Amino acid sequence: MATIFTRIINGEIPALKVYEDADTLAFLDIAPASPGHTLVICKNEVATLTELSDAQLLATARTTQRVAAAIQQALQPDGINIMQNNGAAAGQTVFHYHVHIIPRWTDDGVMQFWEHKSLSQAEFTEIVAKISRAL
Ligand code: 5GP
Repeated sequence: MATIFTRIINGEIPALKVYEDADTLAFLDIAPASPGHTLVICKNEVATLTELSDAQLLATARTTQRVAAAIQQALQPDGINIMQNNGAAAGQTVFHYHVHIIPRWTDDGVMQFWEHKSLSQAEFTEIVAKISRAL
Protein backbone atom coordinates (compact mmCIF):
# COMPACT_ATOMS: atom_id res chain seq x y z
CA MET A 1 0.00 0.00 0.00
CA ALA A 2 1.31 3.43 -0.90
CA THR A 3 2.14 5.75 2.00
CA ILE A 4 3.94 9.05 2.29
CA PHE A 5 7.21 7.10 2.01
CA THR A 6 6.31 6.00 -1.53
CA ARG A 7 6.00 9.67 -2.42
CA ILE A 8 9.45 10.28 -0.93
CA ILE A 9 10.90 7.34 -2.91
CA ASN A 10 9.32 8.73 -6.10
CA GLY A 11 10.64 12.23 -5.40
CA GLU A 12 7.13 13.67 -5.21
CA ILE A 13 7.81 15.22 -1.82
CA PRO A 14 11.19 16.30 -0.51
CA ALA A 15 13.29 14.48 2.06
CA LEU A 16 16.77 15.01 3.43
CA LYS A 17 18.35 11.92 1.91
CA VAL A 18 21.60 10.60 3.32
CA TYR A 19 21.90 7.38 1.31
CA GLU A 20 20.15 5.63 -1.57
CA ASP A 21 20.69 2.44 -3.53
CA ALA A 22 18.49 0.26 -5.73
CA ASP A 23 16.63 -1.34 -2.81
CA THR A 24 16.77 1.10 0.08
CA LEU A 25 16.66 4.77 1.00
CA ALA A 26 17.81 6.56 4.15
CA PHE A 27 16.63 10.04 5.07
CA LEU A 28 16.32 12.23 8.17
CA ASP A 29 13.14 11.85 10.22
CA ILE A 30 11.00 14.98 9.91
CA ALA A 31 10.31 14.97 13.67
CA PRO A 32 13.56 13.60 15.11
CA ALA A 33 13.99 12.11 18.56
CA SER A 34 17.58 13.39 18.48
CA PRO A 35 19.82 15.20 15.98
CA GLY A 36 20.68 12.67 13.27
CA HIS A 37 17.56 10.49 13.73
CA THR A 38 17.41 8.69 10.38
CA LEU A 39 14.89 6.36 8.78
CA VAL A 40 15.99 3.49 6.57
CA ILE A 41 13.26 2.22 4.29
CA CYS A 42 12.88 -0.64 1.90
CA LYS A 43 11.82 0.67 -1.50
CA ASN A 44 9.14 -1.99 -1.88
CA GLU A 45 5.71 -1.23 -0.45
CA VAL A 46 5.91 -3.66 2.45
CA ALA A 47 4.31 -2.69 5.76
CA THR A 48 6.03 -4.80 8.40
CA LEU A 49 9.08 -6.90 9.21
CA THR A 50 7.37 -10.25 8.76
CA GLU A 51 6.27 -9.39 5.22
CA LEU A 52 9.80 -8.68 3.94
CA SER A 53 11.50 -11.09 1.57
CA ASP A 54 14.95 -12.35 2.56
CA ALA A 55 16.51 -10.02 -0.01
CA GLN A 56 14.56 -7.00 1.25
CA LEU A 57 15.48 -7.83 4.84
CA LEU A 58 19.15 -8.17 3.99
CA ALA A 59 19.23 -4.98 1.94
CA THR A 60 17.58 -2.96 4.71
CA ALA A 61 19.82 -4.45 7.41
CA ARG A 62 22.93 -3.67 5.37
CA THR A 63 21.88 -0.06 4.81
CA THR A 64 20.97 0.29 8.49
CA GLN A 65 24.44 -0.90 9.52
CA ARG A 66 26.16 1.29 6.96
CA VAL A 67 24.25 4.45 7.89
CA ALA A 68 24.63 3.75 11.62
CA ALA A 69 28.40 3.51 11.13
CA ALA A 70 28.39 6.82 9.23
CA ILE A 71 26.33 8.48 11.98
CA GLN A 72 28.75 7.14 14.59
CA GLN A 73 31.70 8.56 12.69
CA ALA A 74 30.09 11.86 11.73
CA LEU A 75 28.15 12.79 14.86
CA GLN A 76 30.08 10.84 17.52
CA PRO A 77 27.07 9.85 19.65
CA ASP A 78 27.63 7.90 22.86
CA GLY A 79 25.27 5.21 21.59
CA ILE A 80 22.71 4.39 18.91
CA ASN A 81 19.23 2.87 19.23
CA ILE A 82 17.90 0.82 16.34
CA MET A 83 14.10 0.72 16.55
CA GLN A 84 11.46 -0.72 14.31
CA ASN A 85 7.71 -0.59 14.95
CA ASN A 86 5.22 -3.10 13.53
CA GLY A 87 1.52 -2.33 13.83
CA ALA A 88 -0.37 0.58 15.35
CA ALA A 89 -0.30 -1.01 18.80
CA ALA A 90 3.50 -1.00 18.62
CA GLY A 91 3.62 2.66 17.63
CA GLN A 92 3.83 2.30 13.87
CA THR A 93 2.32 5.34 12.18
CA VAL A 94 3.62 4.93 8.62
CA PHE A 95 2.75 1.50 7.27
CA HIS A 96 5.79 1.14 5.07
CA TYR A 97 8.64 -0.88 6.59
CA HIS A 98 11.29 1.36 8.11
CA VAL A 99 14.05 1.23 10.68
CA HIS A 100 14.77 4.12 13.04
CA ILE A 101 18.43 4.93 13.69
CA ILE A 102 18.49 7.18 16.75
CA PRO A 103 21.83 8.58 17.90
CA ARG A 104 21.99 8.89 21.68
CA TRP A 105 24.05 10.98 24.05
CA THR A 106 24.51 10.22 27.74
CA ASP A 107 21.60 11.59 29.81
CA ASP A 108 19.86 12.96 26.70
CA GLY A 109 16.49 11.86 28.11
CA VAL A 110 15.34 10.88 24.63
CA MET A 111 13.69 7.57 25.24
CA GLN A 112 11.60 6.06 27.96
CA PHE A 113 12.01 2.33 27.97
CA TRP A 114 9.46 -0.22 29.10
CA GLU A 115 8.67 -1.14 32.64
CA HIS A 116 9.81 -4.69 33.29
CA LYS A 117 6.96 -7.09 34.04
CA SER A 118 7.05 -10.17 36.27
CA LEU A 119 5.81 -13.41 34.75
CA SER A 120 5.31 -16.70 36.52
CA GLN A 121 7.31 -19.76 35.50
CA ALA A 122 4.12 -21.22 34.02
CA GLU A 123 3.57 -18.12 31.90
CA PHE A 124 7.17 -18.19 30.62
CA THR A 125 6.85 -21.89 29.82
CA GLU A 126 3.58 -21.41 27.96
CA ILE A 127 4.96 -18.53 25.91
CA VAL A 128 8.13 -20.34 24.88
CA ALA A 129 6.06 -23.40 23.91
CA LYS A 130 3.72 -21.29 21.75
CA ILE A 131 6.53 -19.47 19.96
CA SER A 132 8.56 -22.63 19.43
CA ARG A 133 5.55 -24.41 17.94
CA ALA A 134 5.03 -21.53 15.49
CA LEU A 135 8.60 -21.73 14.19
P1 5GP B 1 6.75 4.99 13.02
O1 5GP B 1 5.99 5.68 14.14
O2 5GP B 1 5.82 4.51 11.93
O3 5GP B 1 7.69 3.93 13.49
O4 5GP B 1 7.69 6.11 12.42
C1 5GP B 1 7.31 6.97 11.40
C2 5GP B 1 8.30 8.11 11.39
O5 5GP B 1 8.18 8.78 10.15
C3 5GP B 1 8.04 9.16 12.48
O6 5GP B 1 9.19 9.26 13.32
C4 5GP B 1 7.78 10.44 11.71
O7 5GP B 1 8.35 11.57 12.30
C5 5GP B 1 8.39 10.15 10.34
N1 5GP B 1 7.72 10.82 9.23
C6 5GP B 1 6.39 10.83 8.98
N2 5GP B 1 6.13 11.51 7.85
C7 5GP B 1 7.35 11.92 7.38
C8 5GP B 1 7.72 12.69 6.23
O8 5GP B 1 6.92 13.12 5.41
N3 5GP B 1 9.05 12.89 6.06
C9 5GP B 1 9.98 12.44 6.94
N4 5GP B 1 11.26 12.72 6.67
N5 5GP B 1 9.65 11.72 8.03
C10 5GP B 1 8.35 11.47 8.24
